[in-house]
Amino acid sequence: MPINKNETKALVDRFGRTVDYIRLSVTDRCDFRCVYCMGEDMTFLPHKEVLSLEEIEQVASAFVDLGVKKIRLTGGEPLVRREVIKLIRAIGALDAELAITTNGSQLVQMAPELKAAGVDRLNISIDSLNPERFKEMTRTGRLSQVMAGIDAAVAVGFSRIKLNAVIMKGRNDDEVLDLVEYARASGVDVSFIEEMPLGHISEHDRAEAYCSSDEVREIIEQRYSLYPTTERTSGPSRYYRMDKTESRVGFISPHSHNFCSECNRVRVTVEGRLLLCLGNEHSVDLREILRRYPDDIERLQQVIIKAMDLKPEKHEFDLDDEPQIVRFMNMTGG
Ligand code: SAM
Ligand code: SF4
Repeated sequence: MPINKNETKALVDRFGRTVDYIRLSVTDRCDFRCVYCMGEDMTFLPHKEVLSLEEIEQVASAFVDLGVKKIRLTGGEPLVRREVIKLIRAIGALDAELAITTNGSQLVQMAPELKAAGVDRLNISIDSLNPERFKEMTRTGRLSQVMAGIDAAVAVGFSRIKLNAVIMKGRNDDEVLDLVEYARASGVDVSFIEEMPLGHISEHDRAEAYCSSDEVREIIEQRYSLYPTTERTSGPSRYYRMDKTESRVGFISPHSHNFCSECNRVRVTVEGRLLLCLGNEHSVDLREILRRYPDDIERLQQVIIKAMDLKPEKHEFDLDDEPQIVRFMNMTGG
């Protein structure tokens, strides 16, 4: 299935959106069990269903050849996959910006080698600065380890590190200002995320916990003026500046400010499922192509190009109904 060499190899969907950003999930496993992301007892994928590091690298390389300019590795916790550094080095050598989203638990050991491997950006999740509460929210995480990881990433010279916090009513909405203070003191950005209904978690009521970005913004504005900027990082965050700091505040608002019209990204799960939208099930099985035609990159690229026609116009999230999306965030690749 040869690609017509005169064709521009950009990925464009039916709504004229160019896809130049991919998020690759490198594992569904994690050392934490955040209450909004996973149930307490999770079953993870059997080994043979998971793409090998080489297969993930092939997917990344195929996308870069198709015009993708930014790759984010995520999961699960990407840094707990065995030998993941080999994959990071290989993707770091491609002609695309490389970012990682991590819970920070491995950064004390790994920050220097990530920097050396060509990682350009780090997003580090931290939802609470209170050790007991952090433990409650992550079920297994240790705050001191994550904070030391953030310090290690700053020390090694990563620029524009971004903290991510999912804000939930009655859980951590009283820590919004503390998180902003912490970001300012550490010289990093911070984004506040509205929780999304991905997967059913019996012990957690998402509708009750929902806290909108506008509510978070009002809390911050009790102390700081926020100045809207047009700065983007090719992701869904809308950024604001504050006085007397380089740190920015971002909002990721899948409910209250639908960002679908500007969507430039797709995801590949660790099973090799190309997901065209975070909030819909439209997908294509790339693993089948990779395993049936292991050396046929052009075929893989044709399948990816064709899949763009499946990208839906937008997502609809409704917190009061049963989730339409049964996959959990760790499967999706946040
Ligand atoms: N383990 C890494 C981490 O926590 O950063 C990467 C994967 S995690 C799924 C990526 C991001 O998704 C995290 O910032 C996490 O807080 C966020 N997340 C997980 N479940 C979510 C949900 N249901 N709604 C909104 N954000 C969610
Ligand atoms: Fe793990 Fe990240 Fe999900 Fe928390 S949000 S359970 S750290 S994958």
